Amino acid sequence: MSLHEISAIFVTHLHSDHLSGLPDVYASGELTRLAGGGRTKPLELWGPVGIENVGRGIELMFTDNNRFRLSGGEITKDAMNIVTHQISEGVIYDQDGVKVTAFLVNHGHVVPAFGYRVDYGGRTVVLSGDTAYSANLVEQAKGGRFSGSMCCNWKRSLGTVTLGLCSSIL
Ligand SMILES: [Zn+2]
Repeated sequence: MSLHEISAIFVTHLHSDHLSGLPDVYASGELTRLAGGGRTKPLELWGPVGIENVGRGIELMFTDNNRFRLSGGEITKDAMNIVTHQISEGVIYDQDGVKVTAFLVNHGHVVPAFGYRVDYGGRTVVLSGDTAYSANLVEQAKGGRFSGSMCCNWKRSLGTVTLGLCSSIL
C-alpha cells in the first residue's frame, strides 16, 4: 500500500508513540511525486477526545509547507485538510462493507484509551493500543483474530495479559 492510499487512521490513544508518525503520513502522502500519485482527499483521523488538537496541530505545522507545495503543483488543496472524528464506544465507521467498532481498554490514567474491532467480508481483526488486562478486549476478540498492540513496548504495557491468554482468545 502506498502512502497516498491511506486516508483513514484510527488512533487508540494520545500518547506520543502513537502519534509521532502521523505528520509524515499526512505530509508525504499528499505529495504527488513521492507517494505514487499523492492523496487527493483529506486525511481522516478517528480517536479519543483531543484528536481535534492533533489534526489542527499537524495542519498548523505544515501551513507554510502546504503553501509552497500547492503553488508548486505538488499537492491538491483537498489533501491539505485533516478531518477529525472524536469517538466513543460503539460503531464508529461503517462504509463499503468495513465496520469499525471502538471499545474501551485499560491504559491506567490514560482515559479514554480504545481498541478497535474491524469486521469485513465475514472476517474480524481486533486491535488494541497499550492496555492492561481488559475484559472488553477479551470479549471483542472472541471469534476474531487478535492482533495485539501497536506500541513498541507492548509486552511491558500489557501487564497481566500473558501470551497464553492471547492464545486462548484466538
Ligand atoms: Zn500509551
